[in-house]
Amino acid sequence: MIHSRHFSIKPLAGGIYALIATEQGGAMSNAGIIDMGGFTIIFDTFNTPQAGRDLREAALQLLDQPIGYVVNSHWHGDHVRGNQCFGDVPIVSSGKTRGLILTTQPQWLERMTPLLPQLNADIAAAAAAVKAATDEDTRKLLNVHHSYLLEIRESIETLAVTCPAVTYDKELTIHGSKRSARLLTLGRAHTECDSVLHLADDSIVFAGDAVAVSNHPLLTDGDPEDWMSALETLRNLDAVCIVPGHGPVSSADSITHMQQYISDLLALCQPYIGLESKPSAAGIPVPEAYMNWDATAVFERNLEFLLSRRLQ
Ligand SMILES: [Zn+2]
Repeated sequence: MIHSRHFSIKPLAGGIYALIATEQGGAMSNAGIIDMGGFTIIFDTFNTPQAGRDLREAALQLLDQPIGYVVNSHWHGDHVRGNQCFGDVPIVSSGKTRGLILTTQPQWLERMTPLLPQLNADIAAAAAAVKAATDEDTRKLLNVHHSYLLEIRESIETLAVTCPAVTYDKELTIHGSKRSARLLTLGRAHTECDSVLHLADDSIVFAGDAVAVSNHPLLTDGDPEDWMSALETLRNLDAVCIVPGHGPVSSADSITHMQQYISDLLALCQPYIGLESKPSAAGIPVPEAYMNWDATAVFERNLEFLLSRRLQ
């Protein structure tokens, strides 16, 4: 069986697998492999072509059947930059998500390509820092950063932006001989349009970034209030197992935790509504409940977003 530096494979039910991003690889987010009976669905394609390549290989090895469809949950690069590895397979997303991939991803590549010489210098500096580290914890942290830069360089050098070819508006159901998979949009939440994949018979939802577990979710590209309602829609699916876009596989509790996080951040910013001078997001400490969550830098970005929004 494939052993990838980009992800670990977690079997969930007969022929359904969550692929959980490793800390050091080029995946950056989670994906799914679903046996539909006769063909496979891939849910999201990771942050880099190299991780996407391993995803394709894992799907073929695990299920030994054609890949029928690839799904993109939303436009963020860490969920779509492996698309090119599935060039012979229809890639499916909501119409809005396709539009956002088209208007963001080629520009990202255009912006990043001239930065390659700087990236090479950064990689050399990061490698030197790893060498110079005197304790194991620091070395580990620096190593993660070094690996991340290496993955990004490989990605920029090989990326060919590949857009979904099949779109839907609100929902789309794909039927196989073994199960049916329902794709539905939650509307505006983490982005302008987030889709989830519901496997009703197995009580599993692949939630994309509508749910993050033990990771600060990014609020800046969507709408926090709409996201709260979207999470209610998600809860009403009554799934026992939730595969988040970031973090480990979880239960419906993860939906409650997301709602709590969003309402906690809104409450943190509430006292500053109407004030003329904008407080510094950096001066607001991470609440105790989220101190151990990954992607800490996202917390500050979220506050900056909420504060500027509230003070408009
Ligand atoms: Zn995202």
